[in-house]
Amino acid sequence: MNIYHISYTEKFVGERMAMLSFKGCNFDCIGCIREKNEYDIYAEERRYIDWNFENILKELEELNPHRIYLGGYEPTLDPDLIRIIANISKLDAHIVLMTNGSKIDERYAIELKEAGVNEVIVGVKAFDRKKHLCYTKRSNEVVLNTIKNLAAMEDAYFRLQVETILLPGINDPADIEELATFISQINPAISLFIEPWIPMEGVKFKEPEKEDLIDAVSRAMKHLYVVSYHPLYSEIKEIRETPRKVKFIEILPHIR
Ligand code: SF4
Repeated sequence: MNIYHISYTEKFVGERMAMLSFKGCNFDCIGCIREKNEYDIYAEERRYIDWNFENILKELEELNPHRIYLGGYEPTLDPDLIRIIANISKLDAHIVLMTNGSKIDERYAIELKEAGVNEVIVGVKAFDRKKHLCYTKRSNEVVLNTIKNLAAMEDAYFRLQVETILLPGINDPADIEELATFISQINPAISLFIEPWIPMEGVKFKEPEKEDLIDAVSRAMKHLYVVSYHPLYSEIKEIRETPRKVKFIEILPHIR
């Protein structure tokens, strides 16, 4: 079993959700956030348990989550993944597998579906082949094929989402628009999530500008029905440090 960490929250916009993180990856991304920080960058509390699957399952049973994410490095490298999913699927939570998409052939996709995965999020680090190779040291061809395979199997109980990073110089708004075009040719109803790069010490890339994030979202929205995005890391930090109340203004006709 490659699970090395659990994080959870009892109040994530009203939902209880848990994340199981798995060790090991077959990509070698220049800016692997996991290598820089293997734990939850937003966690505010930590506790320890005897580390075995029975105890992990017990923790999940107590939490009774609505959603369980399988992520971390690359969960599909774990030879026990199918057994793990089959066990946690008994908890009746929505199970989301987050993957780099490099290990899911048609046969394995069927196994995931049958074991109880409800949603697969495939991360595309860069749409441009050369930039993907430069960033991850691996080709993105198999990742793009995985998207096609999973899309062909998608139904209400086995959903597909594509996630990509906005990373200046590697995956710019124009690259994200090309990715959105590629996805729309498979099925424009496949949703795309855009994650802006989180700046890290010792890694040469800078955090994207907010206007580039909005540009990437607007470009992708021209091709796909559902496009969403994560705020910039600096925005989240600022909101946490100085809680702001969003101001809404309403406009009404004069009372005569
Ligand atoms: S695919 Fe994810 S876990 Fe693997 S090296 Fe890249 S960023 Fe790290």
